[in-house]
Formats: sequence, C-alpha cells, structure tokens
Amino acid sequence: MDRRTLLKTGGLAFVGMGLGACGPKTPKAPPMIGTIGRGVRPALDLVPVKASWDRIIHTTVGLRPYRASGFVVKPEKLDEKTLIHNYGHGGGGISLSWGTSYLAAEMALSHRERRAAVLGCGASGLTAARQLQRRGFDVTIYAKSIPPHTTSNMALASFTPTSRVVSTTRRTPEWDEQFRFAAEYAYRELQLLVGRDYGVSWIDSYGTMDEPPPERIQSPRSLLPAHLRIGREILGPGQHPFPLRYATRQRSMRIEPAIYLDALVRDVLLHGGRIKIRTFDTRRDLMALTENVIVNCTGLGSRDLLGDNELTPIKGQLTLLVPQSDVNYKTSGGLDSTSGQFGIGLHMTPRSDGIALGGTAERGVWTMEPNAEARKGIVDGHIALYQSMRPPRHLSAQVM
Ligand SMILES: Cc1cc2nc3c(=O)[nH]c(=O)nc-3n(C[C@H](O)[C@H](O)[C@H](O)COP(=O)(O)OP(=O)(O)OC[C@H]3O[C@@H](n4cnc5c(N)ncnc54)[C@H](O)[C@@H]3O)c2cc1C
Repeated sequence: MDRRTLLKTGGLAFVGMGLGACGPKTPKAPPMIGTIGRGVRPALDLVPVKASWDRIIHTTVGLRPYRASGFVVKPEKLDEKTLIHNYGHGGGGISLSWGTSYLAAEMALSHRERRAAVLGCGASGLTAARQLQRRGFDVTIYAKSIPPHTTSNMALASFTPTSRVVSTTRRTPEWDEQFRFAAEYAYRELQLLVGRDYGVSWIDSYGTMDEPPPERIQSPRSLLPAHLRIGREILGPGQHPFPLRYATRQRSMRIEPAIYLDALVRDVLLHGGRIKIRTFDTRRDLMALTENVIVNCTGLGSRDLLGDNELTPIKGQLTLLVPQSDVNYKTSGGLDSTSGQFGIGLHMTPRSDGIALGGTAERGVWTMEPNAEARKGIVDGHIALYQSMRPPRHLSAQVM
C-alpha cells in the first residue's frame, strides 16, 4: 500500500471511528484505552490544525549562520580594542544565545573599560547586551537591521541547541566544552523567562511514525548532556489521534521570536542601553568605534565583515497559517511528501502570530525567495496529516 492510499484509508477509518462514537448530541465520557506501562487512561484528544491553502497568511525565509566547526566565541586583540566574537550558531542560535553571550561577557571583563559596543541586534546581540549590562557595562548596540528584520525573527524557534550547530567530524573537545556550558546555561535562563511576557512556554511535542521508535541511547559522543533531554512517552496504535501507528510525546520549550526579541529590546533599553542603526563593511570600520570593548554578534554577516569563509547559510522557511488558539501541541515528522529533496522534516508549531509550518534546510543557498516546491511539500504534507487525524470527541459530537 503506498503512502497516499494508507493516508486515505487511515483517514477514512478515523472519520468512521469519530462518527460511530457520537450518536447522542451530548459528549460521552471518553473511552478508556491502555497505555504502555501506565495502566488505563482516557484516549488522547487533540484539536487538528485547520491546514489548507486558503488559510496561509505568509511565508518567511531566514538564513541560518552555519559553521561546520561550530560557533565562534573567542577574544581577539585589535590595537587597544578587544574584539570578542559570538557568532555562527547555525540552527541553534535562539536556544544557545544566553549561554554563548555569558561566555562572551565574561571575556569582556578582562578589559578595564566598562563601555561596550555590541554589533548585531538578533538573539545573540541582544542577550550579549544584557549579559554585559548585568556586569555593569554601558552598552550600545550597532546593527544594520533590528527586530523584526533579523534572522532571529525568522526562527521557529524551539529549544534546539544541537540543531545544525556543528559537523560531527569537526568538533573539538574545547568547542564541546563551550557548547555544553552554553546549552546548560541557556536552558536554565530560558526557563526563568517562562510566563514572564517573553513568549517562552512549555508545550507537548508529538513525533509520529509508522515503526516503533528506537530506544534513545546516550552515547559518550552525544553533544547534549543527558539531563537536558526530557523523557518521552511512546504511544502505540489507538492511543493517539495521528494517522501513523506510533507517536512519541515529550514537553519542549517554545520561544515565540516576535514577542521574545521585542522583550529583549525593551530590557536592553530599560537598563540604559542604546540601539543605533549602522553597517560595518570591513574590520577597519570597527576602529572608528569609540568603545574599546566590542562584541561581534553579526551572525552570517561575519562572513563578509571578517572574511570567515567557513560561514555558510542554511536557508529555512516557515509558512504561517491563520492563528488557531485551540491548538496547544506541536508535531514533527510524519507525512513528508517531498522527502529527501531539501532535507525536509515536517514540523508544526502553534504560535500567537500563526501556525508555523516548516521546515527546510537548504545548505549554501543565499536567496531570500521562498522555495515554492518546498512550500508545497510542507503545506500538502500537513494538510494530509491533519485531515487524517481523528477529531476530538467533543468536535465529533458537534458534527452529529
Ligand atoms: C527557519 C528557521 C528556523 C529556525 N529555528 C530555530 C529553532 O527552532 N531554535 C533555534 O535555536 N534557532 C533556530 N533557528 C536559527 C536561529 O534563527 C539563528 O541561529 C539565530 O537567529 C542567529 O542569531 P544571531 O543573533 O547570531 O544572528 P541574526 O539574528 O542574523 O542577527 C545578526 C545581527 O547582526 C547584524 N549585522 C550583520 N552584519 C552586519 C554588519 N556588517 N554591520 C552591522 N550589522 C550587521 C544584523 O543586522 C542583525 O542585527 C532557525 C532559523 C531559521 C531560518
């Protein structure tokens, strides 16, 4: 049976189940189902996303600043100035920024001056500014563009510190150590922002698959410390509403970039910081700054500014559907209609600015034009997934 047939029959089977269960108009108590290792509990009800082409509100494109050997956090002498780098976070920059900015700000302390310039106003620049302010620095951010026009605004953005952040063949023990510290620090810092108007929240995340998910093994080479990996549950056939046989569920951290970055801008300004629009073309332009402590958070911009040719874009795009406040879970994996072509792994995250559908990862692609073929795969893949999902019982009751 091919995927389309499976979906169709799976979908019909689920619709049939829903209708059969809803004769009376008042919803019945949910049927009890067995779960793996947890006895019996109510069947899982999730409101499907209303995925359709006429609910699209826009598509965004961003270029992840990827370096095969990972982000750069290190100081450099520039005559009497200290230039501290904090760039190249790939697909994990929102997740890691508080941590790498902590490291950068600690390096700044070795300079005797307490005035600092931060280059860049994305997640890295804003958190670097806050980390410097916490250490008593008077901070000015200089940037070509500010929120909502940074790559950081185009992120999904979940807590994904290991996502496209380094090539496994290029890691060094020193870099791993910086990474682990940064991931751990950032994880804790983001937790402190939950529920405090920063757009950071915890949400259930479901993976869907036809085969039983493999055991997760923590190898000594694993980037992420084991205690940063939240436990997951495995839901078997009939225990979840998705049209594939298995689902995994775990809590994950969601960061809404529009809210988060605006809140950071506000915090920087509230603590006496300034933000100036300015573009730097070469390293020599930095010498014109009056500040002697400079923290470089220019992301992909560091390629031209510093001649770091290792930096390469990994283009990603998100298609947003009309916001749907009754969808309170994320999904990943599943019905990928363009598998393999662009490294697509479908994912959906509900946010207050829309239902964000991804995702693509086009390495070395600089264009900011949405990839129409990828968009079709992503939207059609999600339409197929949610049309085939078993509707929740209270909605099936209304149908009757
Ligand atoms: C589709 C997509 C999904 C993503 N999902 C996630 C996710 O789930 N989780 C996650 O952690 N990350 C995610 N990312 C990655 C994340 O967006 C980046 O890692 C992060 O935004 C990098 O932040 P940054 O501040 O270093 O760079 P940017 O946000 O690009 O900021 C760079 C700043 O430097 C300025 N600048 C650049 N060059 C110059 C110059 N020459 N002169 C002056 N100013 C300059 C820019 O104007 C800007 O202000 C995603 C990215 C994309 C595209």
